[in-house]
Amino acid sequence: MRGTQAPLKFAITSKGDETSNTLTQKIKTYLLDFDLQYDEDTPDLVISVGGDGTLLYAFHRYCRRLDKTAFVGVHTGHLGFYADWVPEEIEKLVIAIAKTPYQVVEYPLLEVIIRYINGGREAKYLALNECTVKSVSGTLVIDVEIRGDLFETFRGDGLCISTPTGSTAYNKALGGAILHPSLEAIQVTEMASINNRVFRTIGSPLVLPAHHTCMLKPVNDVDFQITIDHLSLLHKDVKSIQCRVADEKIRFARFRPFPFWKRVRDSFIAD
Ligand code: NAP
Repeated sequence: MRGTQAPLKFAITSKGDETSNTLTQKIKTYLLDFDLQYDEDTPDLVISVGGDGTLLYAFHRYCRRLDKTAFVGVHTGHLGFYADWVPEEIEKLVIAIAKTPYQVVEYPLLEVIIRYINGGREAKYLALNECTVKSVSGTLVIDVEIRGDLFETFRGDGLCISTPTGSTAYNKALGGAILHPSLEAIQVTEMASINNRVFRTIGSPLVLPAHHTCMLKPVNDVDFQITIDHLSLLHKDVKSIQCRVADEKIRFARFRPFPFWKRVRDSFIAD
């Protein structure tokens, strides 16, 4: 048991399919048997059962208490970047949760602040994977400022701004680099930019350090389809979209080493 400490409060997020729900029930019963407390509102530990997508949902559900909540992911499908425990290991995981003070590793997040033309309100989001910006109709035309200076006017399908742990998701499909999550950085990747004798963009992914802000400013159209991880929203009358490394971090409970590059290899190369 956990000695004289207050019992650990846990919550479980399931992908919702039968396998994940059965496993969720099993984990919950085991942890309650160890006298841990189930608490959906203020958990110390959130166990995500499903895939990386499930962990994204769990992250957004608890993103207002990131300093107090750690996450761990069990996958019921293929190996994930956030979900790296397999169902056959859950007894081991449950015992580790119940008996050992676990180690916590922190990974960088992306902060996105959207400001609107009519002033006043602004919307702030945290992304675990990425933010994407697309036009509602036709080509996205947007000024890209880095650290206060105009870098380029982007024309194309869209832009993707990702975190290091999100670099293996949409960013990778766009030809972005895979970034080790110990790097406090964000990466800007293009989606099908228009490049010819008239229009020019850098054409390469850009990796920005924590003290550099990337600001996107509309050129003509002010309505955009903006995604934050799995959440996609239409934003109207946008004045600017500010992206930078967030002050907040996601905390993962670590019970055993699973080096990032091994996870990359196991996910994309090894059988
Ligand atoms: P989805 O379309 O149902 O799933 C997208 C896929 O991305 C799933 O296979 C998911 O893994 C995987 N994934 C999520 N985060 C990852 C990460 N950090 N590293 C490697 N793979 C990752 O959408 P969803 O489940 O709601 O997830 C939203 C995410 O989809 C977005 O954040 C974006 O990164 C990704 N996406 C990718 C593309 C693309 O690659 N062309 C296009 C659009 C969106 P699981 O199966 O384990 O859940």
